[in-house]
Amino acid sequence: MAVKNKVNAAIIGTGYVGLSTAAAFASKGIRAVCVDVIREKVDMINRGKSPIFEKGMKPLLEAAVKKKLLSATTDIDAAVSDTDISFICVQTPSLPSGEIDLKYVKNAAAGIGKSLRDTGYRAVVVKSTVLPGTTENVVLPALENNSGKNLGSEFGLGMCPEFLREGCAVVDSLHPDRIIIGTNDRKSRDLIYGIYRRFDAPVLDVGIRTAEMIKYASNTFLAAKISLSNEIANICELYGIDVYDVMKGVGMDNRIGAQFLNAGAGFGGSCFPKDAKAVAYAARKLKYEPLIINALLEINERQAAHVVDLVQRAVGSLRDKRVALLGLAFKPETDDVRETRAVPIALGLLGRGAIVVAYDPRAMNNFSKESKLKGLRYADCAESALRDADCCVIQADWDEFRKIRPETFRKLMKRPIVVDGRRTFDPDKLTRAGVEYLGVGWKGNR
Ligand code: NAD
Repeated sequence: MAVKNKVNAAIIGTGYVGLSTAAAFASKGIRAVCVDVIREKVDMINRGKSPIFEKGMKPLLEAAVKKKLLSATTDIDAAVSDTDISFICVQTPSLPSGEIDLKYVKNAAAGIGKSLRDTGYRAVVVKSTVLPGTTENVVLPALENNSGKNLGSEFGLGMCPEFLREGCAVVDSLHPDRIIIGTNDRKSRDLIYGIYRRFDAPVLDVGIRTAEMIKYASNTFLAAKISLSNEIANICELYGIDVYDVMKGVGMDNRIGAQFLNAGAGFGGSCFPKDAKAVAYAARKLKYEPLIINALLEINERQAAHVVDLVQRAVGSLRDKRVALLGLAFKPETDDVRETRAVPIALGLLGRGAIVVAYDPRAMNNFSKESKLKGLRYADCAESALRDADCCVIQADWDEFRKIRPETFRKLMKRPIVVDGRRTFDPDKLTRAGVEYLGVGWKGNR
């Protein structure tokens, strides 16, 4: 089949992945029709307003909506019949056991399947992170059963994992490092390539199950890099060595690379924890005990407890001590609080009797809604969180926090102590300026 010049896409799910994908497609002249089950999100998008906070999303979305290259609807039928390819971008969270929850993917696939009944040939692409076999064993039957049609002659199927980073989702969607096209037949591949050929990125063609596994391999690899750096950090502290100096040297090795070596309070977010848990759970089901993945998850849990221990080391008993907790999103530049390390840190502090006053530039609403932490107090700015505090913990290194001057800590806090979970500050500079500093992997932790 020749690669089509004009191609339109339905994007099912308008979260971080779906909306960024739609906006990136629209910027390349592809008409994107977004579908969501949440009416408010759909209405916001049609007004050119982003339901999520992402740098660069606002102008891109506004321009795309104005040019009528991007629209949103709750009507999946209309979106699927009006476009050539449907991308499934819905969430795949963890169940309490760690197992992947596929209910959103199943619903989306059933919805697309029903919509396929009265259309000509269409392709369906899974972009959500799913375990090997899911596209063929879960999505495909849902499409076939609900449409009464057959894969191959009547519709196509593919799996293109997404690698964007929240906080830079727009840049990553416009300029991906690589594009993985997972298909098992030429016709589907060519239709999907008709979209991705517009992006200046290397394309890797693989089978569907390989594409699914590439995503898990990438995420567990990156999570392992972070957890290994955290383990080295904890050992460095015992030696009185600064882990950031160590990792600078390590990262200069081309075989390793400098990224994801920053020690800290551990990783959170909607991907690393749930994907590592999902693949570990699946491996166990296949009678393989995933030792490295188990360890990287356990080290990650310990890091939050380590931060709480550092606070106690600095101030002694935490009972009735006031602690400012800065940064509630799982990382800076996002309002996403899924699996944020702020939760175990806050729980650890509250559990030892501290009064915790929290602040985040963007994630306060999401955090209070999602975490429902009893007893946590919220401040409307960093300064009011710091007022009269015995200690300040930094969980997400927003630029706004980096700009806090040492005299602000000295002036506002009962005692100026910073426990830095993200190496937000230069420890030497802060110490010289009269602020006590403790941080993950810092040689001077007392
Ligand atoms: P999200 O929770 O932000 O968004 C999912 C959206 O899908 C929500 O708006 C929800 O209302 C909508 N939805 C659910 N069921 C639907 C249905 N049947 N029809 C239409 N809409 C429906 O999720 P996300 O963070 O964008 O992640 C989506 C997938 O991409 C997940 O599998 C995730 O693991 C993967 N992923 C996420 C990131 C990331 O950084 N967030 C990066 C790479 C891959």
